[in-house]
Amino acid sequence: MLSPTSPRGEARDIVIDGDIIADIVAPGSVASENADVLDASRRLIIPGLINAHTHSHGGLSKGVGDLWSLELLLNAAPWISGSRSAEDKHLAALINAVEHVEKGATACYDLFFEFPAPTVEGLEAVASAYDSVGLRAVIAPMVADLTFYQSLPGMIDALPQDARARARDISMGKADTTIEALRTLAKRWSHPRDRLRLGVAPTIPHHCTKEFMIACRDVAREHGLIMQTHVGEARYQSASSFKIFGTSMTKTMDSAGIVGPWFSAAHAVWLDSDDMDVLAARGAQVAHNPGANLRLGSGISAAREYLRRGVTVGIGTDGAASSDNQNMFEAMRHASFVSRARGLPPGEWLSTHDALRLATEGSARVLGFHDLIGKIAKGYKADLVLLDLDHVNYIPLNSATHQLVHTEDGRAVDKVLIGGRLVVSGGRAIGIDKAALAAKAQAAVDRLGALNADARRFAERIEPMVSNFCRGLADDEVLAGLHRLLPH
Ligand SMILES: [Zn+2]
Repeated sequence: MLSPTSPRGEARDIVIDGDIIADIVAPGSVASENADVLDASRRLIIPGLINAHTHSHGGLSKGVGDLWSLELLLNAAPWISGSRSAEDKHLAALINAVEHVEKGATACYDLFFEFPAPTVEGLEAVASAYDSVGLRAVIAPMVADLTFYQSLPGMIDALPQDARARARDISMGKADTTIEALRTLAKRWSHPRDRLRLGVAPTIPHHCTKEFMIACRDVAREHGLIMQTHVGEARYQSASSFKIFGTSMTKTMDSAGIVGPWFSAAHAVWLDSDDMDVLAARGAQVAHNPGANLRLGSGISAAREYLRRGVTVGIGTDGAASSDNQNMFEAMRHASFVSRARGLPPGEWLSTHDALRLATEGSARVLGFHDLIGKIAKGYKADLVLLDLDHVNYIPLNSATHQLVHTEDGRAVDKVLIGGRLVVSGGRAIGIDKAALAAKAQAAVDRLGALNADARRFAERIEPMVSNFCRGLADDEVLAGLHRLLPH
């Protein structure tokens, strides 16, 4: 198994009792007559990787939209994710979950979106998908009381005359109804808390009125739920926060009492040093999504600066609509690489050891599962990934950690256990008929494509105006010389 001291790992037997690691011992030192034995010879055993930020509704959206910045993705959201039945929501989550486990991830933080408001039926559709694959998860309904168009003052007026009424007519569920739906979900949630946990995700600060954010916080605090929000993902968003709230997103959320040990900021690209200090002082965490930030041209999050302040950082992929895969090996590699592209001296880059720690222990903390997962240790859940050391990714084996982060692409994943249960064997999720899944998914995207065709035409027509408007917002900040936005 992976070892912090031996670059090629150490031979060990791992004793699993129920879903827990009961002991880690020298090979052959435990009597195995009454035990099921899983042969792990020529296998590198690592803790399951943990995805600190994804969106299960993205499971049907990989490969959608190429030259898209974040605002163009948000503009397209109604047609990408619209008109879905509970079965479609289940299907998207199932695809996401299968990709997670087949690529060595054993838990995720899912910000799941339903329009216009979360439903018990939708959440249960997602939970049942995770149950059938075995993936551990936080499922946080992603909520807002303003649409993307309403969230940016002046945007609707910047659209062509004949598009304004339509943009104005799109609306989220009423704030009270959404908050009540969250409360109902929290009361009814019956899944074991060590398997599937409920969270609350006010999606983006300026897509929420302050009253709405406070109401979300109240539900979360009443029921002991963790929270995550996209914070400062794109520069235009950070700029708009100053325009709308008169201060940064982080300080706005902090003044609403949201920022605390139960809270994580997803992306956290356009935060200044004061914002970082706020996160550190409150014991909040960061979900670092370097791949999606590159894909959407959002920027590079200053992971090292957060770590230096003692902020826990986890690593995420983001949803497949903005990262196109759910590959945590690739996410670790991105985290390592982008840390080297910020002009810092090599000693300040993320080492491969750092990247692996962030994607395991760091992400476990973001999910609030840090006492249960993220390590191979006695008393922890038996969430383990077995990598084939005869795969070309490990020929030769010089440094297990380094090769996990900079070489591994998920193709050496042989077996995956979650809570001691074998969920992947021979690199394939157990009990999943891929051909049937592919047929179902293709039928769903064809049907939804027809249903959402008009919404798609509308979004595509206004793309240039949306892009110009948001770029203008970001440029205003540059022209104003607001160096506070630069995370150095
Ligand atoms: Zn996201």
